[in-house]
Amino acid sequence: MRILIKEIINKENQEVELKGWVDARRDHGKLIFIDLRDRSGICQLVFLPKEKEIYELANKLRSEWVVKIIGVVGQRPKGMENPAIETGNLEIQVENLEIINQSETLPIGIDTDGYEIGEDVRMKYRYLDLRRKRLQKNLRNRVKVIKFIRDFLAEKDFIEIETPIINKSTPEGARDYLVPARLHSGKFYALPQSPQQFKQLLMVAGFEKYFQIVRCFRDEDTRGDRQPEFTQLDLEMSFTDQEEILNLTEELYLNLVRALYPDKKIKLTEEGRIPRMSYKEAMEKYNTDKPDIRSDRNNPDELAFLFIVDFPMFEWKEAEKRWDAVHHPFTMPKFVMPKTESVEEFWNLFKKDPASILAHQYDFVLNGYEIGGGSIRTHNPELLMAVFEAMGNKPEAIKEQFGHLLEAFKYGVPPHGGIAPGIDRLVMLLENEPNIREVIAFPKTGDGRDLMTGAPSEVSEAQLKELHIKITGEK
Ligand code: ASP
Repeated sequence: MRILIKEIINKENQEVELKGWVDARRDHGKLIFIDLRDRSGICQLVFLPKEKEIYELANKLRSEWVVKIIGVVGQRPKGMENPAIETGNLEIQVENLEIINQSETLPIGIDTDGYEIGEDVRMKYRYLDLRRKRLQKNLRNRVKVIKFIRDFLAEKDFIEIETPIINKSTPEGARDYLVPARLHSGKFYALPQSPQQFKQLLMVAGFEKYFQIVRCFRDEDTRGDRQPEFTQLDLEMSFTDQEEILNLTEELYLNLVRALYPDKKIKLTEEGRIPRMSYKEAMEKYNTDKPDIRSDRNNPDELAFLFIVDFPMFEWKEAEKRWDAVHHPFTMPKFVMPKTESVEEFWNLFKKDPASILAHQYDFVLNGYEIGGGSIRTHNPELLMAVFEAMGNKPEAIKEQFGHLLEAFKYGVPPHGGIAPGIDRLVMLLENEPNIREVIAFPKTGDGRDLMTGAPSEVSEAQLKELHIKITGEK
């Protein structure tokens, strides 16, 4: 039965069966040494000339061939140990070798961290690029981060609920990816920019504490820390307030870093808390709403979390000549808490000075990156309607786009709020990586292409016809 390479440590003088890849080959005089690699590590195989048949087979082995061996675990001769690997005191004298599959010479080297290789070719051969140690580590650690989050929230009575991927567009300030509806000519689904409306509807549905590790899609120009699809921890709670959500987020992230990255130095306030700063103060002092407050930016192991609070509710969009929500329209204007009947008060303020209205909105910042944002939501349907109108939407359009939410809010909606921290940026910063592509298995280029599969690609005439779509070729 196959065992993992790391398990040979307790198997001295025993016969073991291993399967994996030829990591490297060295010939010393008559002896052939092979480094065998599997997901757990590397160990040294030795082939002696006296085992003629196996020796000759071993002579053919090249890098990245896939093999099965049976052999006996023994100590390496004195002075030949390799302290750099876990099995460095041991080697295996091979008694049986089977070549399972051969490999051509790889188009990219995988024995370095890979930063020196052009990213285009790394992406084209991503399945090989992923064999490198650094990316194996990044993806394995990413899963540990996600598992920690799941366990932490489950412990706190949150439940994970999946929400639809193809549905109606939700405004989060970006462009939607659209999916033509074959059965409904001329109609489209949108991929979610976030599960915002669904998580709010789950509060109407009485779940009270929801979360989801979820993919979100935004058709934006991609940058170093953005991808067309990315992963969020999406979270929503009923009967809550900003304080509770920030405290929960703080506890989760501090515990996570301390458990999984104990060597990181977290910059906290004197009371041992994540600092909070108003939007106004951030803009005045740092001229950005995501300041990097690390003491020493050259220290890769310093983490400076920060909450930015008291955002303005609206900002003027000159191109569209209208006031737009800074976060999204579901965010509650600040003056309204705790009474939520103040539609009149809202209009008075909005007509007087829209820019002065603050929002129950907060951002979560880490080392100068926005790693999350959230808000307390407006749960009064009349006030929500007023906010939509203030943003320049006509009542008919509001009903068409958000009718389901306004309708739902008629049936005993609890006050609620949430937050959605991104997973990719967090793991990028924890792993000291320069961009999120290093922590995503199959990322896309800056202009949204997958260099391995060739997506996006043309589709057949027949497919287009089925979807009632004609390509005009116009730009
Ligand atoms: N849906 C928001 C976002 O993706 C987060 C939130 O308000 O909970 O940015």
